[in-house]
Amino acid sequence: MTNNECLNDGAGDSPELFSANYNSGVTGGRRPDSVESFLPPLPEPVGISPDFTPLKRIHAPQDLLREDALQSYDALQDDSFSCHPGALQQGCYYIRLMLTSLHTPSSSQYEGTLRIQRTGDKLIASGDLYINDFCKTPTYYPVLSENSNRKNIIPVFPRNQYARYIRVVRIKGNPDSGKDIVLELETFRFDNKSCTWTRGETFNVEVKFSTGLDGSQYWRGDIQTLSKRVLGHMVAVRVSPYFRQALIEIDRVAASDHPSHNDGSDWQAVFEKAGWNVAIEFSDEDVEEPEDHNWSNAELHKKMLVCRQSVDLDKQWRYHLLAVRELEDKRDGVIFGVMYDSPESDINRTPREGVAVASEVIFPDKNIWGKCRGKRFGECKEAYIRTAIHEIGHAMLLYHPHNPHENYIMQRTVLVAHNAYNAVPPQQFPDNIEWSFSPQDIHLLCHLPDIAVRPGGVPFGASHRRLPVDVREVVVEADGLELNVSALHEVVPIGAPVRVNFSLVNRSDQEKLVPGSLSMKAGHVSGRIIDPSGTEHTFATIIHYDGDLMPKPLPAGGSIPYSATMLWGMEGPFFPTSGYYRIILELNWRTQGMQMRISGNTGVMVTPPKDEKHARAALKIFSTPETLLALAIGGDHLKKGYDAIHTAINNPVLKPHYNLVEAKRVSQRFFDRKPDLKKAADIVDEKTVMSPREVIRLTKILKSFTKETQKEAIEKMSKLLLTKAKEVGVEDEVGTIIKEIQAQMQ
Ligand SMILES: [Zn+2]
Repeated sequence: MTNNECLNDGAGDSPELFSANYNSGVTGGRRPDSVESFLPPLPEPVGISPDFTPLKRIHAPQDLLREDALQSYDALQDDSFSCHPGALQQGCYYIRLMLTSLHTPSSSQYEGTLRIQRTGDKLIASGDLYINDFCKTPTYYPVLSENSNRKNIIPVFPRNQYARYIRVVRIKGNPDSGKDIVLELETFRFDNKSCTWTRGETFNVEVKFSTGLDGSQYWRGDIQTLSKRVLGHMVAVRVSPYFRQALIEIDRVAASDHPSHNDGSDWQAVFEKAGWNVAIEFSDEDVEEPEDHNWSNAELHKKMLVCRQSVDLDKQWRYHLLAVRELEDKRDGVIFGVMYDSPESDINRTPREGVAVASEVIFPDKNIWGKCRGKRFGECKEAYIRTAIHEIGHAMLLYHPHNPHENYIMQRTVLVAHNAYNAVPPQQFPDNIEWSFSPQDIHLLCHLPDIAVRPGGVPFGASHRRLPVDVREVVVEADGLELNVSALHEVVPIGAPVRVNFSLVNRSDQEKLVPGSLSMKAGHVSGRIIDPSGTEHTFATIIHYDGDLMPKPLPAGGSIPYSATMLWGMEGPFFPTSGYYRIILELNWRTQGMQMRISGNTGVMVTPPKDEKHARAALKIFSTPETLLALAIGGDHLKKGYDAIHTAINNPVLKPHYNLVEAKRVSQRFFDRKPDLKKAADIVDEKTVMSPREVIRLTKILKSFTKETQKEAIEKMSKLLLTKAKEVGVEDEVGTIIKEIQAQMQ
């Protein structure tokens, strides 16, 4: 997210136009009652008829939209789709609102875009408003009649001026008759800090159609309250037959495969169906790779930052795809692609714009993989291109569908393969790929708020269950299963991360299908932290994977343990004051056509600073958002993050909670820097706090060293890890790896 200081944050709002709920906007954490407003409601089809047509309340927009959205494809192909010169044509309009009411501050002016989708006799329309101080910034359209050189360019506005989402809820009059019409608009105010929306006032715009000197269609009209009081004036010019416009930059390691058949027209065709005008730029075709071709998350992250250095996301919607040979983080199975989501941080105010695919991944040798079985990913061009587009879809805030039987772009690759295998008559993956976003996703791509879909907007997080399309979904509490959650240390000093262990236990007498991975990255785990004041904060995953992660059977009496380290969320530090915190974890997954859920919780007590030095070290952690990235992704380029961690390590109270982070860093390669086990072994000791997962992870890192290099350090570290493993109950798993290490050393 953008830094809150640079946000107008409603300061320039008209208290008239948007006064409703003005003071009820949530600041700080998300309150339980505002959960539904993670996104504003999207527009629904509005009937066009001579009479005032009330908005139909439709609770199943996806079913209805399927047909409508499909019709809109055809409409998009034909720019001349319009019955009358005065009609509201399909496409994107530049809009400008000038509020002239006496009570309105002079700075209350907005500009933005309005997206009009025509589907037969219905219209679906939404838009976004950005605050504009016309005294300082020139308006996008200084003179309406001089816009011919701007044709087909959708304007881009600075993210920190984002203010409102609007949707059309009624139309009075027939826009195709050439006569004036009235649009009723609902507004939703965006709260940058909590990423929530509150309903603003509803108003009418009296639309009078005109034609510009260059023949462009525009309209203007008064903005009125529902009681007909004039608040100001609005102007709109149609700028494109598309709804949205973006650039996708594709960089690749020379030895990886090209994720397109040709010049990118295969990508464009998919986005065209969603009303997006997308340009594909093949930029760097020879990205330097780590010596073993295997990219760690830290290295991907660094590379992504370098690639976008020269990009201004306030002037351009640019997404970045990197095609590499291998992704290192394969602990959770076969990983085809990955999407990064970086929450608020000094260097990283840009969530959701970087993704990667791995061309050297080998498809498992199983029947379901059809024509791709046992093949290299990059060799199966269709599947490879699909995953690349799929990951970019995530970067546009799209999630996996709930329907396991569809084969559109946002379906998990493994389910598309299953669907081919189970089809009657059987098909061969990847022949059954549907080269389109689903109608539901097309609706989202057309009508999600700008700030939700554009790169560097709101983070991709634990929010997807809150998307409007999911409201109808019936969620079943998982029967016979238990989610046990406990803190590794129930009492932690302020400034320290909280390590939480959790395990999914099958208490029933029969096998149960459970998530394939409990890693946050797999997207099944989400949760909330309730702070001492009762405010709720959600957690978000930073990395999102697409891989071979199917639900797997958990035998009766069996359990799957996992652990997570918590410090920072998208709204700031999770544990910034002393006191009692409640941590609620929730597991969501889909199996046998049902959406399953289970939750568990635990409590933790955060103690106040012991002395001034401790207080200062905690302050440094809390004022350095990059600490989160250092903990979650790692990488030497996160200098500020490691600097804060070093400060914590120099403090005796916080040291045991942080020295593992530094040990993990120095024991792993980062581009040219060699791993240094001896140094790592000197950093950690018996007092070091490690979750079960961290003990296992460090043991696996240890296994990558050979005896010639650092025999003494290996022995020292093995001993320590065995002790820690006993402490946290993972001695079996760690003992096995240590035995393998010892065998290697013989
Ligand atoms: Zn995915």
